[in-house]
Amino acid sequence: MRSSRPSAAVALAFLAAALVLAKSPAASAQQTARTADAVEALFMGSGRLTPSDGFPACSFRNHWSGFPRGTAVTVRVSTTVSGNVRAAVQQALRQVPQATNGAIRAAFELTDDPNPMPNRNEVTLTFHPDPKSQGCPYKRGCTMHKFAKPGVIRSSRVVQPAGMPVNAYVHDVVGHGIMGMCHIDGNLIGGAGKSLMSGGPGVFSGQIAIRLTALDMAASREVYGSPLSPGASRRDFVRLRLIDASAADGNRAETAPREREGVMRWLRRLLDD
Ligand SMILES: [Zn+2]
Repeated sequence: MRSSRPSAAVALAFLAAALVLAKSPAASAQQTARTADAVEALFMGSGRLTPSDGFPACSFRNHWSGFPRGTAVTVRVSTTVSGNVRAAVQQALRQVPQATNGAIRAAFELTDDPNPMPNRNEVTLTFHPDPKSQGCPYKRGCTMHKFAKPGVIRSSRVVQPAGMPVNAYVHDVVGHGIMGMCHIDGNLIGGAGKSLMSGGPGVFSGQIAIRLTALDMAASREVYGSPLSPGASRRDFVRLRLIDASAADGNRAETAPREREGVMRWLRRLLDD
């Protein structure tokens, strides 16, 4: 009888140690997998976090889209755009150097032009009553990129109607326009508010973040921290392990829970003994 006590205590000590040992590598592996999945969704328009409705909203899938490294982007905003939208865009612009590890800078400018056309290294934004008449496929507006070559953005023109949630304008100007990012599924990342670029079924622009989030920043800094440049291919991303080609079959996502289950089974056996 007495001997069962020390053995239970030993087992509990093992349990504590095993949980610590089991938890940290699994947690960090999950974190890595998550960043890699976010990189793949946001920068390649593919992978397990890409919107499950099949609408990643990128011009190029399988190419990293962005302005060339070292570009100082001018965001030229029409005076047709309301003050609160201007302020939100300006605020998010300040995140761009950090998000790109200093590769891209962004400055804000106002223009009287009601319908500005972007020059090289410019992103323009205007409110327009009829974005479809300007070349957008949707009434809710769009970002029209010009590319120097696949993935290398030359300019971006954002045309949107007035009266949408402020988030929608920041999403287009900063997310698509400057960062060249695709959508990520808001339901699969724990809520639309976890990304400026959330999309997918049932996600509305009022629910997404109004600035680049921790998830967006982590993914972007990973990509800009690599030796690659915009225009790089999916193969380059796989080669440098920015994304995990095997993640597509869900292997990686399932590894951690399976490991934990194994440890718990082992502990239960130990305690039962
Ligand atoms: Zn979008």
